[in-house]
Amino acid sequence: MATLIKNIGTLAGILPADVLRLEGSAMNEVQSINNAYLIMGEGSIINFGQGQPSQPEESFDEVIDANGGYVLPSFCDSHTHIVYAGCRDGEFRDKIAGLTYEEIAKRGGGILNSADLLHNTSEEELYQQAMERVNEVIAMGTGAIEIKSGYGLTLEDEIKMLRVIKRIKESSPLTIKATFLGAHAVGRAYTGRQQEYVDHVCQDMIPAVAKEQLADYVDVFCDKGFFTIEQTAQILEKAAEFGIEPKIHANELDVSGGVQIGVKYNALSVDHLERTTPAEIEALRGSKTMPTMLPGASFFLGMPYGAAKEYINAGLGVALASDYNPGSSPSGNMRFVMAMGCIKMRLTPEQALNACTINSAYAMGVSDKVGSITIGKKANLIITKPIPSLAFIPYSHQTPIIKQIILNGKLI
Ligand SMILES: [Zn+2]
Repeated sequence: MATLIKNIGTLAGILPADVLRLEGSAMNEVQSINNAYLIMGEGSIINFGQGQPSQPEESFDEVIDANGGYVLPSFCDSHTHIVYAGCRDGEFRDKIAGLTYEEIAKRGGGILNSADLLHNTSEEELYQQAMERVNEVIAMGTGAIEIKSGYGLTLEDEIKMLRVIKRIKESSPLTIKATFLGAHAVGRAYTGRQQEYVDHVCQDMIPAVAKEQLADYVDVFCDKGFFTIEQTAQILEKAAEFGIEPKIHANELDVSGGVQIGVKYNALSVDHLERTTPAEIEALRGSKTMPTMLPGASFFLGMPYGAAKEYINAGLGVALASDYNPGSSPSGNMRFVMAMGCIKMRLTPEQALNACTINSAYAMGVSDKVGSITIGKKANLIITKPIPSLAFIPYSHQTPIIKQIILNGKLI
């Protein structure tokens, strides 16, 4: 069973199989072929090239005509909280009225509000609500997402969330990684007893999550008003006993030390980074950790945008992700993320595309399978209408240009 995509105006995002992330000036280029074809089969990319394939068109089981449009690798979204109950549109009014994220959290809103809603929602209902968002992001061109727990904040509810993520993994065509974020906030039952909550995460939650094999990664909100560096280290050490790698929320609200602790424990990524000093860049140099920025949160909360350009000029890679969540980024639109990367963070369209594909795939540990046009990788593709250039994608970011979505070699 082989499918040919013919008449591709530009096939963009081509990389050799051994390139798992792009750093520094390597982010400046998107390798492309004009007037191209691509062959896929068994869910993977089999071949591609310029002009026509050597086999006759009739020998293919299916032929898709790209009509001169772009073919790109699907977006990879390495940081989401897409499983949640209800929404927080009430807090939207508080924000407009001038309350900060921290003030809303202090009033019992924020993450604890989502935890209450989630507690009162059945696993089935939670799954149904999340699948609506999953289908929404698929239609916008996302092919891989990482999903975090962290609105449970009790053993039972964290497990409930992670089981929902597992079910999405099994039932949707997306490539999915699950992250345990029990230390997203202190659960209500532990108010004023933060250290006891951290002990509970370590002694009870992590072993239970590991036993059911529900998490690929562990995450901690290491920031002002949330968890300290010492508590983060305690959680990461416990997770390491079970072979669970970290991804860290760091430097959103303050220069938290979260980047340094992430690098120390070989985190796959450190995420947010709205606040950066030269020390963060130095800490990341030579590490396996991908700095990941979430411009949707900066946009929604009116925070500074991550200094992506500085990181790239220092020779580091940068990934961009949506942070899709009900409190600070209620959107999983990676094309808008790419546009903010260009408009607000001054990335070139090429750098922004690399940040939303190969580097975000790396930041969720799947860049050997997705994130570029590479023989052997999953055929996760976006086919656009004819567009004048790569820059048109973030430039005209609300124009509906996506014509077809292919995941695992199949038209969606
Ligand atoms: Zn987050």
